[in-house]
Amino acid sequence: MTGDRYARLADIEWWDQDEVRGAHAVVAGAGALGNEVLKNLLLLGWGTITVVDLDRVEAGNLSRSVLYRPSDVGAPKVDAVVRAAGELNPDCRIDVIADDLRVGLGAGLLHRADVVLGCLDNVTARVALGQLAGQAGVLLIDGGLTTWEGALRLYLPPDGPCYVCGLTDDDLRDLTLRHSCLAYRVRAESARGIPTTPTVAATVGAAMVQQAMRWLSRDRHDMTVPIGHELRFDLAYDRFWQVGIPVNPDCPLHPTPVLPAATPVSSGADRWVDILDRWRAALADGEAVLRLPLPVLRGWTCPGCGRQDAVHRAHPGDRPERCPACAAEVALDLVDQIDGTQQWHRLSPYATGFPRWSWVEAYGGGEARVFELAEPAGPDGAAAAPPGRAGKDGD
Ligand SMILES: [Zn+2]
Ligand SMILES: [Zn+2]
Repeated sequence: MTGDRYARLADIEWWDQDEVRGAHAVVAGAGALGNEVLKNLLLLGWGTITVVDLDRVEAGNLSRSVLYRPSDVGAPKVDAVVRAAGELNPDCRIDVIADDLRVGLGAGLLHRADVVLGCLDNVTARVALGQLAGQAGVLLIDGGLTTWEGALRLYLPPDGPCYVCGLTDDDLRDLTLRHSCLAYRVRAESARGIPTTPTVAATVGAAMVQQAMRWLSRDRHDMTVPIGHELRFDLAYDRFWQVGIPVNPDCPLHPTPVLPAATPVSSGADRWVDILDRWRAALADGEAVLRLPLPVLRGWTCPGCGRQDAVHRAHPGDRPERCPACAAEVALDLVDQIDGTQQWHRLSPYATGFPRWSWVEAYGGGEARVFELAEPAGPDGAAAAPPGRAGKDGD
C-alpha cells in the first residue's frame, strides 16, 4: 500500500507526506536535468506534476536521462515520461504538454502550482518561463548545466532579481529586438547542445528538488538557498558555493505578479468576439481590444513559390516555418491583439491554440485588466476542476 512506500520519509522530522501528495510542480524541459528532477519528484510522491517539452527522445539522450529506455527513441519525451512515471510511482498524477512552453503553458496553470522547475537549455525559453512564473507569482527554481558545472537559481519577483536581470548586454539587445519586432529570429542557440554528464545533471536536479521540498514546508524552516540566490556546483574541482544574484534596476522585463479580474468570466471555448463584447461593456469602451499573451499566426506567404496559406494558431512568433511545397522559409503574418474585425475572431481561444488558463489583457477606457480564460462549464454547469490544490491561497 502507499503507506509503506513513504514510511522511511515519514520519519523525517519536518516531513509531511500529505503536503507532498497535495503539491503541484511544473517541470519545463524533460532533458537530462528534467529527468533527474522528475525522478526525484516521483520518488517523493508529488501529487501532480505537469511536464512541458516539445522534443522526441534521441539515442544520445540515453546516456543522461534516467527515465528513458531504448524503446522510447523516436517517441515524444512527454510520452516516455508518462510511461516511466507509471512504472516509478503510479501515485503521482502526470499532466503532459507536448509543445513549446510559450504556447503550451497558460500563466493560470503556473498560478495554480506550488513551484516551477526550469530544466531548459536556452535563453529564449528561460526568459519566457521567467515572465510567466513572475506574472503568476510562483517560485521559479531555474537549473542549468555545463559539462562539469551546474547551478540553480531561485526567483520570485518583483522582490529580488528575475532571470532577465542577470542577462548580459548582448542578450538584452537581442531581447529588445525581439520585443519590438515579432519577426525577430532567435539566434541558433547551441542547436546540438553542450556536452553534459549524468553526474552533473543528478547533482543539480537533486538540489533543485531539495529546494522545492524546502519551499513546500517553508512555514517550518528557512530556505537553505534564499530567494534571489544562486547555488553553483563545480564538479571539475568538487566545490559548491552560493552567491546573491544582483537586481538590475534597469531590467526591461522585470515581472510583477498579477491578480486576474474575477469578472466578467469567459471560457477558452467562448468565441473571441463574445469575450471582446463582454470586456467592451465592462470597460465602457466600444473600441477596447484584447491583447494576447502570444501572437496568432494568421497565415504565411512563401517567397520561393508564392504559395499562401491561412493558419490562425497561437505561435511563438520567432520560430521559423517552412513551405510544405518548396521548403523555403515562409514570411509569417502575426498579430497580437483582437479587435473583433477579423473573420477568425469568431473562433475560440482553444480553437486558435491557446492553452487552458491563459491570461489575456483587456485594454480600453485608459486601463488594462488581465483576465483568465476559464475551463468551460461541464454538462452540470460546474467548471472542470483545476489540477493540484484547487482553491489554495484563496484563488
Ligand atoms: Zn529583472
Ligand atoms: Zn514555397
